[in-house]
Amino acid sequence: MTEKSRSTSLIHHDYVPPADFASPVVGVHKASTVFFPNTAALRTHSWLDKSAYTYGLHGTPTTFTLEARIASLEGGQQALLASSGLAAISLVDMALLAQDDELLLPDNAYGPGKTLARHELRSWGITHRVYDAMDPASLAALLSPKVKLVWLEAAGSVTMEFPDLRALIKAIREHAPQAVIALDNTWGAGIAFDAFALGVDLTVHALTKYPSGGGDVLMGSVVTADERLYKRLALAHSRLGLGVGLNDVEAVLRSLPSLPLRYAAQDAAGRELARWCAQRPEFVRVLHPALPGAPGHEAWADTCSAAAGLFAVELDARYTPAQADAVVDALKFFRIGWSWGGPISLAVPYDAASLRERPTPYRGTLIRFSLGLEAVEDLIADLEQALAVLNERA
Ligand SMILES: *Cc1c(COP(=O)(O)O)cnc(C)c1O
Repeated sequence: MTEKSRSTSLIHHDYVPPADFASPVVGVHKASTVFFPNTAALRTHSWLDKSAYTYGLHGTPTTFTLEARIASLEGGQQALLASSGLAAISLVDMALLAQDDELLLPDNAYGPGKTLARHELRSWGITHRVYDAMDPASLAALLSPKVKLVWLEAAGSVTMEFPDLRALIKAIREHAPQAVIALDNTWGAGIAFDAFALGVDLTVHALTKYPSGGGDVLMGSVVTADERLYKRLALAHSRLGLGVGLNDVEAVLRSLPSLPLRYAAQDAAGRELARWCAQRPEFVRVLHPALPGAPGHEAWADTCSAAAGLFAVELDARYTPAQADAVVDALKFFRIGWSWGGPISLAVPYDAASLRERPTPYRGTLIRFSLGLEAVEDLIADLEQALAVLNERA
């Protein structure tokens, strides 16, 4: 291949870089098309085992590397990547549920996962029911042969209750042995506790949060420790056409080495701010599982060696929701926005009752804080000045 026009040589060139390039990061291998050496390879390469490449949607060296690292982070064997944490949740639901099946979710689950169950899953003939994650008996009462999937989440979304995962898993294995047990592991991030050692079948992780760490990437993963379950999920993943952008995969790979350090720093800052909040008269409850007295603290202490930098406070019910909004609006370093795990601290007010189907003990407005990487004394000072708006006369 030497006689060719310049335009063709821009595409088909003889130069091949030397092999064995070594550096700290894997290359960003982008592809829709992947070349096969010959038609025999085209016909025989399987996309399901990772011994060869077939098509960009089925993976490149870059995605295979991130999958392997996320699987080991969480103590599993195999991983699949999806375009967001929510897409990873929907993949699990769609792969494992069919018409007339039932799905159980904790009432304090990540909200959009419950919304998916109420809309698309219901319209496909899949029913769902919510249990109280803090009461294993309430889960046991819902277990039946219809139940094919049970979601766990620790700690719960926004209200941060830490459930007794061992008791929940035991109840499911006893009363619904056919059910797959899925844990949303975003809060623990593979660091706070070992989900597979507790006996879950799969974990979902919003890599958008700590693994990305930048507040600039959306991605999710599903990790399994069993080849048969992985195959079921991988088939659905392929049929649904779920793919991820390779620059995003690279961004997550670049952030992964610092994940344990960032998690520990955000944990320490979160606990310090939560302890400060516990002394403030404006708050009747500080919902942080590492704080003695918080819901699920004993289960947290029994299960975890760390906590995410994430907690909520319940404002005294004498303050109106508008006053809670005014506190959040007065914050300067804490920005207002969804998600967490990035470098910038975030605050969001919530009406607890609107989040739950079952009754909640929370009467005042909740404010959820997510710790970034700012100096914690600046964050404390920021919250202190913002709370001053509660003492201003309306
Ligand atoms: C953020 C989050 C998700 C969804 O992740 P996205 O990437 O934002 O879709 C799922 N579960 C939990 C617990 C989360 O915090």
